[in-house]
Amino acid sequence: LLEMNHIKKSFDGLEVLKDISLTVNEGQVLSIIGPSGSGKSTLLRCATMLEKVDDGDIIYMGEAAAKSEGGRAIYAKTSDLKRIHSYYGLVFQNFNLFPHYSVIKNITDAPLKVQHRNKKEVFEEAKELLRKMGLSDKANAYPHQLSGGQQQRVSIARALAMNPKILFFDEPTSALDPELTGEILKIIKNLAAEKMTMVIVTHEMNFARNVSDYVIFMDKGVIVEEGSPETVFNSQNQRMKEFLGKFN
Ligand code: ATP
Ligand code: MG
Repeated sequence: LLEMNHIKKSFDGLEVLKDISLTVNEGQVLSIIGPSGSGKSTLLRCATMLEKVDDGDIIYMGEAAAKSEGGRAIYAKTSDLKRIHSYYGLVFQNFNLFPHYSVIKNITDAPLKVQHRNKKEVFEEAKELLRKMGLSDKANAYPHQLSGGQQQRVSIARALAMNPKILFFDEPTSALDPELTGEILKIIKNLAAEKMTMVIVTHEMNFARNVSDYVIFMDKGVIVEEGSPETVFNSQNQRMKEFLGKFN
């Protein structure tokens, strides 16, 4: 579903991603773990084209968003990128809801305005998503009237309303207290059970271990360890062990 090959990205001479390659298959949950500053968010931002890579390929469903040519990445034309953009959704750490839009408008806005879908259908789907997120009574509330966990559930509903093939999460629970964290992790777990394809940057090691099909451990812009949760969490790699030690 997604293939990233030999991705390189620098900021002002600082190489943040050094030859990163990964594959995400349909129905798979990939977790990305690693210390602060290792490049996890940058990798997600590159995958979702919020940031351009310097070199490498980004291929969604066999369609190249970027292709390496002569040592640099050449991006597809805008109309192709627009289509590719509709394949994925992104959920941020800080929810990023529109503060002046109600919950239901936050969810229905893009399907209506970007995807030009049928209004009745979009609203019915949005209500179903709210029900799934346990927020049926909050359709007309505004983000500031909701708890952090509720806001994050709205932002997950908003991403799902676009019917993405793959959903990216960048530390979806790190702005939440432990109780609300569990609430969000449960929702992601349910999505995993429904075989939603997901890429999750997380500091929740138990979650990464229990829910992922595949785990990538990044440090200083490189993939140090990767594989099944079993393999990665039992790795004898020194950096991996040091990193995991901080959670015990
Ligand atoms: P955290 O766990 O703290 O979120 P991270 O693994 O997500 O960390 P990134 O945010 O990807 O790390 O940052 C990797 C490196 O790239 C850091 O050194 C950061 O300062 C740098 N960086 C990220 N974005 C930019 C930017 N827009 N301009 C300059 N440097 C940046
Ligand atoms: Mg980050």
